[in-house]
Amino acid sequence: MTIEYDRAYWENALTQISLNGNHFIDGKRQPASTGLTFTRIRPMDGKPSAQIARGNINDVDRAVGAARKAFASGVWRGKEPAERKRIMLAWAELIRQHREELALLETIDVGKPVMASLNVDVRLAADCIQYYAEMCDKLYDEIAPTGPNDRALVRKVPLGVIGAITPWNYPMIIETWKLGPALAAGNSVVLKPAEQSSLTAIKLAELASQAGLPDGVFNVVTGYGEEVGKALACHMDVDMIAFTGSTEVGKLIMGYAASTNLKRVALELGGKSPLVVFADADLDAASSAAAWGCFYNSGETCHASTRLIAEASIMDTLIEKIREVTAREITLAHPLEPSAQIGALIEDAHLGMVLTMIEAGEREGARRAFGAERVMADTGGYYLSPGVFVAPSNDSSLARKEIFGPVLTAIPFSTEQEALTIANDTEYGLAGAVFTSDMSRAHRMSEGIHAGTVWINCYDLSNFATPFGGFKQSGFGRDRSVHAIAKYCDYKTIWQRFL
Ligand code: NAD
Repeated sequence: MTIEYDRAYWENALTQISLNGNHFIDGKRQPASTGLTFTRIRPMDGKPSAQIARGNINDVDRAVGAARKAFASGVWRGKEPAERKRIMLAWAELIRQHREELALLETIDVGKPVMASLNVDVRLAADCIQYYAEMCDKLYDEIAPTGPNDRALVRKVPLGVIGAITPWNYPMIIETWKLGPALAAGNSVVLKPAEQSSLTAIKLAELASQAGLPDGVFNVVTGYGEEVGKALACHMDVDMIAFTGSTEVGKLIMGYAASTNLKRVALELGGKSPLVVFADADLDAASSAAAWGCFYNSGETCHASTRLIAEASIMDTLIEKIREVTAREITLAHPLEPSAQIGALIEDAHLGMVLTMIEAGEREGARRAFGAERVMADTGGYYLSPGVFVAPSNDSSLARKEIFGPVLTAIPFSTEQEALTIANDTEYGLAGAVFTSDMSRAHRMSEGIHAGTVWINCYDLSNFATPFGGFKQSGFGRDRSVHAIAKYCDYKTIWQRFL
């Protein structure tokens, strides 16, 4: 049966949905040990949506205890790999069965269009769990070369208890990027979602439990970064923190790990990714990629193409084309409107920060080409129209700071060397792109741009087979692909002598 997803359908679903903001520890939803909660405000209209358990160090301790107990008992890592696969596949299927509920919860929390939550976020979360489920029974160990009387096994063993700390921009996608490989490798996980986006994390844990994941293997503790995230990152019985978030907090996480038990750390951090367009490029393809690459998810994307580095001779034409694509395709509307391509920003305070950064940029001499204005304020929600600025140089704060809103900064160049220098003149190294019809140049530029992913004549194409992550202050360690499993394991040598 095909469902007609109109605004009324989602408005009705909104009145019926259950919004339970409790932790999920040891297989059960549980309130905070203090009984405290905080109120989440919906970005779509500024109204209160849910009460979320305000966790603290004791809740973290309970969750880590449950995770350690599950790990030590071998209830998960000791299962036949094919059985672990079966449970994770059942979980992926349950995510698909609950896709509308999960999509709506994500939209209530984040303000992104519900159809994007449904067709992108929920779909990719289920696909990610499926991808790693399939790997459970395909991971081999090694036998090292030795003399004839010895045998040395090189075993890949799970680390133990993984703390995952995640952001609010793509909650389910980023959480499953960590849960999939960590669980496939046999670890237990304590997840601390961003305080803005707890609802889908709790639901994911409940569905995992329904699918047969043993109690304590996947726990969720909700609450603030300073109270829950810090306690998790400082916990002496956590073996690793897999963090996605800002570079600023990523640095704190490394410090917490260093000053406690030297737990391992993987960091997926911020970005200011360049999209370089040469005059010989297909400008229709380049403008479409630039607009979608920067404005999708209202620019709240770590690898958004926020710096458009364009050959001076085509800069104006390109910006005009970006304006046309944006007006034609990137519809900003209430997130429950099926036509919406982008919705609200995450919070009032965040919208304020984006507007402040825009004002600072303009004071420094950046010229507004179009957009970047507060709209739909009468809804009570936090909406900003996509916009483009032309910066006098790459030194402009609009070209250097991660804005995390639908704001594209254009910078002109004259030579290939200059384009490459500007592209790399950033503290970040998450992603980049080059548009040109000269394949030798495309090759040189893609080798030269110092970033975890470089696209040629496209932007943001990926699948689970490709690793994702950054260089420089965009962090280290990779999510996605078979390689992501390695960071949740370590090698253990077992040397046997035949007497
Ligand atoms: P953030 O760094 O403010 O928060 C991320 C998480 O860390 C949240 O769960 C938060 O509660 C927690 N946290 C905050 N302070 C903490 C502390 N002192 N100790 C422990 N945990 C703490 O980031 P955000 O605002 O949620 O997300 C936006 C940022 O995330 C952007 O910089 C964006 O580029 C980055 N991001 C990166 C990727 C990537 O894969 N590289 C993906 C998405 C988002």
